[in-house]
Amino acid sequence: MADEITKAQVARPGSDTIFRKMIHKEIPTKIIYKDDQCFAFLDISPQAPTHFLVIPKKHISQISAAADDNESPLGHLMIVGKKCAAHLGLKKGYQMVVNESSDGGQSVYHVHLHVLEGRQMNWPG
Ligand code: 5GP
Repeated sequence: MADEITKAQVARPGSDTIFRKMIHKEIPTKIIYKDDQCFAFLDISPQAPTHFLVIPKKHISQISAAADDNESPLGHLMIVGKKCAAHLGLKKGYQMVVNESSDGGQSVYHVHLHVLEGRQMNWPG
């Protein structure tokens, strides 16, 4: 967890993110879902027994930078998140999280929805 905080404190907005490389197939990614607007894949450093991310193909650095016309791609992330959760059989509940900027714990500046399941979530942590 301390590692995650450090990463968020040093990360800065920019369009050349690890997620952009995944979208452009520059690095291999085990995708669990994709469509014309988004991708879902397992988190490399899971914070729960099930932890996947849903990202838009369109580059939006963070939720605070979202424009009014980003409503559809951003809403789509939640719909895809819940469909993936159902497909994976997550029946006892899960948490959806969007981290914003350094104090919000954001370490990758390509907006993404975390979906976490498999343990009791504490909120606020
Ligand atoms: P954030 O801290 O920005 O809210 O979340 C970024 C997430 O991306 C973290 O949970 C981190 O583990 C995940 N992540 C970072 N790099 C990679 C990667 O190369 N592959 C995958 N699958 N996840 C990554």
